[in-house]
Amino acid sequence: MDLDFAREGVFVGGRWRGAASGETLPIENPSNGETVGSLAAGGADDVDAAVDAARGALSSEWGALSAAERGRLLAQIGRAVLAQADRLAELEALDVGKPLKQARADVVALARYLEFYGGAADKLHGESIPYLPGYTVFTLREPHGVTGHIIPWNYPMQIIGRSVVAALAVGNAAVLKPAEQASLTALAFARIAAEAGLPAGALNVVPGTGAAAGAALAGHPGIDHISFTGSSGVGATIQAAAARNAVPVTLELGGKSPQVVFDDADLDKALPFLVSAGIQNAGQTCSAGSRILVQRGVYDQVAARLAERFAALRSGPARADLDLGPIISARQKAMIEGFVEVARRELTLIGEGQVVADAPSGGHYLPAMVFGDVAPDHRLAQEEIFGPVQVVIPFDTEEDAVRIANGTPYGLVAGVWTRDADRLFRMARKLRAGQVFLNNYGAAGGVELPFGGVGRSGHGREKGFEALYGFTVLKTVAAHHG
Ligand code: NAP
Ligand code: MG
Repeated sequence: MDLDFAREGVFVGGRWRGAASGETLPIENPSNGETVGSLAAGGADDVDAAVDAARGALSSEWGALSAAERGRLLAQIGRAVLAQADRLAELEALDVGKPLKQARADVVALARYLEFYGGAADKLHGESIPYLPGYTVFTLREPHGVTGHIIPWNYPMQIIGRSVVAALAVGNAAVLKPAEQASLTALAFARIAAEAGLPAGALNVVPGTGAAAGAALAGHPGIDHISFTGSSGVGATIQAAAARNAVPVTLELGGKSPQVVFDDADLDKALPFLVSAGIQNAGQTCSAGSRILVQRGVYDQVAARLAERFAALRSGPARADLDLGPIISARQKAMIEGFVEVARRELTLIGEGQVVADAPSGGHYLPAMVFGDVAPDHRLAQEEIFGPVQVVIPFDTEEDAVRIANGTPYGLVAGVWTRDADRLFRMARKLRAGQVFLNNYGAAGGVELPFGGVGRSGHGREKGFEALYGFTVLKTVAAHHG
């Protein structure tokens, strides 16, 4: 695949160029460990130029569009994305190691965000407020201005959809810093958007490292809002940097999300989710349902059925389109292996998949694994592993389940499996999470569903209509007319 465009991957004011410093980063294919090209390594100068271009766009063609015109344009970009679905999926499979089917699902999700936010662009409005006689008071929802977006490598296209596209829908001009290990679809998206008519400067992309391009963006005084998706540690750094300029921040961070299975659950329905919510994208998913809490009455049965399902899971190259692709990098794989070492020593392995025999030796493969009888305060039940490793925790009562489920610093997503309707609603109220799924997990990922965390999982909401509130500022206008 021709990846020459990545070397000229700084996209500022509608023009492509290399990094101001001339530096590049290697692009690795995680399926075989080979270097397949080089990526412009943007830095502070490139971020300065991108922020200037975004600011300029607000007072030129982009800023002059009506809400309806913006919406129509986004919908048009959505159709252009779908028309290039095969190429985008192949780029993502190459760059991130995603099995092709999962990469394609990300393209479809991006197109769906463009359709959804395109349709919503002209439906966001303020309100009028009854006030003292002689006054008319109303509110306006206005864009922040220039929004910065720093995103991780695990779901680049989906996160561009829920973050950048939502910000554009309400009239912001965006600067995007993709992850250095996964910038190709971000660049391809910017190209598709420009070709479909997105005015210059509305979207600018500065690939590069977090330490250089990311830090320059997070601390930039010319940014009016920053949206960060990534680890809790870096999130805290971003928030501190933004605080120096009093810039509002949305943080979409990690998780250790529970799936709670009660004795009366429909296990045939639950089992596929207990597995897939943990191993999707090889477990490199912020909202992974990575702690399985099982009531004692069905514990042995669930463990046995998990063992069987995990044994059938295959890891291999993205192009082979198996259950799991490779881990994104050797470094990330080593981090997961650190957890696995502890788990093998201290826990009971109840099920393990396989890396296919013909997987290239340079690829970063791990089999899917599930460990049983894990204590709720064990390291593997507390820390985000970000790999294909599930833990099963037994519990006795509903109170225990709530305590264990809420017993981590995170609070992103939770799932509950029971046939007791009263219990479902009690659990929905008691669980500390931004999304709670009752007798399902993930609700098929709908773009309509507001998403975000509490605690160490972050704050602010993306996805759904709710995101549009976050990407706007409310202005109150009070007129005295007697
Ligand atoms: P990460 O290390 O926090 O990186 C995320 C982004 O921040 C990347 O673009 C990274 O650039 C950049 N970055 C790193 N250091 C920076 C700094 N000092 N200043 C500014 N930017 C900086 O996270 P990751 O390892 O890529 O992703 C895994 C984590 O993300 C997990 O914890 C996962 O749960 C979380 N996540 C959360 C969600 C959610 O919606 N809640 C979604 C996906 C992932 P580089 O690429 O150069 O490192
Ligand atoms: Mg890559």
